[in-house]
Amino acid sequence: MKRGEPVKFCRFSVDNRTYNGVLRGNMLDIVEGDIYGDFSSMRMSYPVDRVKFLTPIVPNKIWCVGRNYVGHVKELDHELPEEPIIFMKPLTTLVGHGDLVRIPNWAGRVDYEGELAVVIGKRCRKVSEADALSYVAGYSCFNDVTARELQNKDGQWTRAKSFDTFGPFGPVLLLTDRMPGDAAITTRLNGNVVQRDVFSNMIFSVSRIISHISRFATLEPGDVIATGTPEGVGRVAPEDRVEVEIDGIGTLSNPFIAEH
Ligand code: MG
Repeated sequence: MKRGEPVKFCRFSVDNRTYNGVLRGNMLDIVEGDIYGDFSSMRMSYPVDRVKFLTPIVPNKIWCVGRNYVGHVKELDHELPEEPIIFMKPLTTLVGHGDLVRIPNWAGRVDYEGELAVVIGKRCRKVSEADALSYVAGYSCFNDVTARELQNKDGQWTRAKSFDTFGPFGPVLLLTDRMPGDAAITTRLNGNVVQRDVFSNMIFSVSRIISHISRFATLEPGDVIATGTPEGVGRVAPEDRVEVEIDGIGTLSNPFIAEH
């Protein structure tokens, strides 16, 4: 398949089978192969409204960046970081577009965090900022759902970020090595805009983040990096719906429910 123009890659299930696909208007074309090698159309399609979107790839691991937009750092009343703050979420947080996010009744305040996700396409270690983007497979939407009170109480972030279903990811992966700096990310809570910013306002760019992580850890194909959330984080409650929309990619939408 030609890689000349950006392709929206995804995984989906329909009729109890799972496929890799490419979004074409309101249709999903089934493809054979994956994003790390080559893939080609199988000349079979399903309408989008008939399928269940899965995470666009099966991630290898999930890296996250904390405090990466000035407005968000200020709203949390923190100092600007001198280098990227890196943490991780376990793979059991992952859910796809449309899946339920479950909030346990003992979790306290739980916040949405709309974020740009970067997917690594090639293994890299100690890569320079100048070369970093050549290791990117593409970009997607991510919601770094966070139990805010537990994050503050614990003094580190692992439990607060690691609840099952606290990592909505998708619906598609835009296959390009570069997101435009003026592309906007918008988060809506029950249809109301609560976060809106552009990627050029990141404190640390995608290339800086990749270079930074690769200095201490090998980045591998399928590694996902959630690049931090803009100003406007806030509480999400059971029965709410959160949408994370990124220009040129699409909208990740998830309903939240109470878990007892
Ligand atoms: Mg975050």
